[in-house]
Amino acid sequence: MAPAYDDNNIFAKILRGEIPNDTVAQNDHALAFRDIRPQAPSHVLVIPKGRYVSYDDFAANASDAEIVGFTRLCAQVVAMEGIGPESGGQGFRAITNTGEHGVQEVPHFHLHILGGRLMGPMLS
Ligand code: 5GP
Repeated sequence: MAPAYDDNNIFAKILRGEIPNDTVAQNDHALAFRDIRPQAPSHVLVIPKGRYVSYDDFAANASDAEIVGFTRLCAQVVAMEGIGPESGGQGFRAITNTGEHGVQEVPHFHLHILGGRLMGPMLS
């Protein structure tokens, strides 16, 4: 049984405007903002505006429009940050931590987009 969505999680509060954020871009379905503890020169979190706990919840239950909106915003962030090979950058890493073993801190699905430095071969 999937965990229920917690409306008090920090990203839900960001989406409701209760906590400030450094917005990079947004569309009808997703918001992109800078991580408060950046692990790379470019470290952006992309989150759906809908109530999804994790990647598997989002991938299974979001509408096609939400998935396309989310994915296109990720592409926009990569282009704006100039980190993707398509925009002349040197590459990036996109990861999502899921559940206990994935060491997910915030229970609202988010994709980390990290770039601007050489990443290690694996994340621990
Ligand atoms: P997770 O481990 O869940 O994948 O990562 C959650 C991320 O959210 C962490 O990288 C953390 O720095 C970031 N984060 C936690 N609280 C806030 C916040 O209030 N604002 C922003 N912008 N990022 C946050």
